[in-house]
Amino acid sequence: MSREQQAVARARKAFQTGRSKCLEHRIRQLKNLQRLFTERHNDISEGIKKDLNKSEVVVQLYEILGLEEEISLAIRKLKEWAAPRPVAKNLLTLSDMVYIKPEPLGVVLIIGAWNYPWAVTLQPLIGAIAAGNAAVIKPSEVSAHTAKVMEELLPLYIDKELYPVVTGGVPETQELLRQRFDHIFYTGNSAVGKFIMAAAAKHLTPVTLELGGKSPCYIDKTCDISIACRRVAWGKYTNCGQTCIAPDYILCEPAIQDTVIDELKRAIKEFYTDNPKTCSDYGRIINQHHFRRIMAFMQDSTVAVGGDNDEDDCYIAPTVLRDVKPESKVMQEEIFGPVLPILPVSGLEDAIQFINNREKPLALYIFSPNQKAIQKMNDETSSGGLLANDCLVHFSVSSLPFGGVGNSGMGCYHGKFTFDQLSHLRGCLIKKLNMEGMNDMRYPPHTPKKLGWARFFILKNLNLGWIGRMLMLAVIAVVAAVVIQKYLR
Ligand code: NAD
Repeated sequence: MSREQQAVARARKAFQTGRSKCLEHRIRQLKNLQRLFTERHNDISEGIKKDLNKSEVVVQLYEILGLEEEISLAIRKLKEWAAPRPVAKNLLTLSDMVYIKPEPLGVVLIIGAWNYPWAVTLQPLIGAIAAGNAAVIKPSEVSAHTAKVMEELLPLYIDKELYPVVTGGVPETQELLRQRFDHIFYTGNSAVGKFIMAAAAKHLTPVTLELGGKSPCYIDKTCDISIACRRVAWGKYTNCGQTCIAPDYILCEPAIQDTVIDELKRAIKEFYTDNPKTCSDYGRIINQHHFRRIMAFMQDSTVAVGGDNDEDDCYIAPTVLRDVKPESKVMQEEIFGPVLPILPVSGLEDAIQFINNREKPLALYIFSPNQKAIQKMNDETSSGGLLANDCLVHFSVSSLPFGGVGNSGMGCYHGKFTFDQLSHLRGCLIKKLNMEGMNDMRYPPHTPKKLGWARFFILKNLNLGWIGRMLMLAVIAVVAAVVIQKYLR
């Protein structure tokens, strides 16, 4: 048995003991995770520093804070989320119990990406634990130091049989994918997403695919361009552009392009000084493969800001490209680096058309003071999420579902959405063995009269309060008794 097979078999066996279903057990595990972040934030930061040159404060702000918030929300709300959810009744189910019962799916495979290696790997884990599942955790091999820290720390804090960490690269992930899971939660690029889905299909395993793509950003000429550019620069250059929802490119009218460039330049200087290379808040490209991939984007476009680089240090300065053509290299794939192309469009209508001619993005940004323009963008395009007049922050609103659509992914998570995504929402109808007469209308021999009663009971819409329902129930019991005696027997 391979290491991967063993981990899955152990997780399955642990799930079958039933302990992951116990609410106290779930809460205990979540509290242990919380403790891990308090006690071991130095180890976590050191690993990420080596992988992506993020400072400790940056790690706290962009990785740990969100996880702590998700844990505390799950602990606070778990009882409510896991409880049966009563649903609307019709005339035929008035006296029955009708509810949705969330139940654990079983063993979930979580495959993480490297850009926010703790956030994107542990956030689904929080939901998996909360929903009562076992989970096999596969951190990205690209952020190798973090993967090692995760492999060492998680078993010290949470149930290592139920939530094993499996490290390794593509062969190990593929070996995992040959095993049978009850759900696969994958974060990464769309090309690999297709392999994941194909592997899952062999076992009819449902998937959540948190993918990426080119997230557009339209800047309306009537907005405060200085504020817009400050927010765009923050969204783009945080983590050196290696953020799934970073604004990938700007669309704006040619008349404001120079102002946009000046304001972006000013914001870059304000955030990262004249020399971002020595600024502790500016990160690095994950590796040289990605460094070369990103540098190639500058070949057939005009650099307006930045462009400095150092391959040995995996450093690329915050860069802006001007007058970029749709057919240029930088527009052929997700940039995932600190290069921001500006493409001139003739206005909102043109921007909408440009967006609709491409794959559906993970995020769509519009900067405008005009609610009608925002509404038009919202009504006439499609994307995983839409954020007006800011960047990235919709990710941190746990009451919003986070996920893609079309090429940017399927399924969603955050807060209760993760809980629901990793639960089976079982539809339950609990009847009693009385009132058998009510069922006569569905039993043979079928007659037009019975059909008439069936139409009445099924199509009549009920919108009554509790007292109304009780009264209606009494009336129906009497009507049913009369109908049965007089007509159906
Ligand atoms: P990556 O290279 O770390 O790959 C992700 C995972 O896939 C890893 O665990 C890796 O082992 C596995 N993998 C890679 N190739 C594989 C293969 N051939 N078969 C099976 N498994 C394989 O990460 P990446 O894909 O470079 O991550 C960047 C992408 O992720 C970007 O497109 C970004 O937009 C997206 N992303 C999305 C989100 C989101 O929440 N939607 C978050 C972060 C990143």
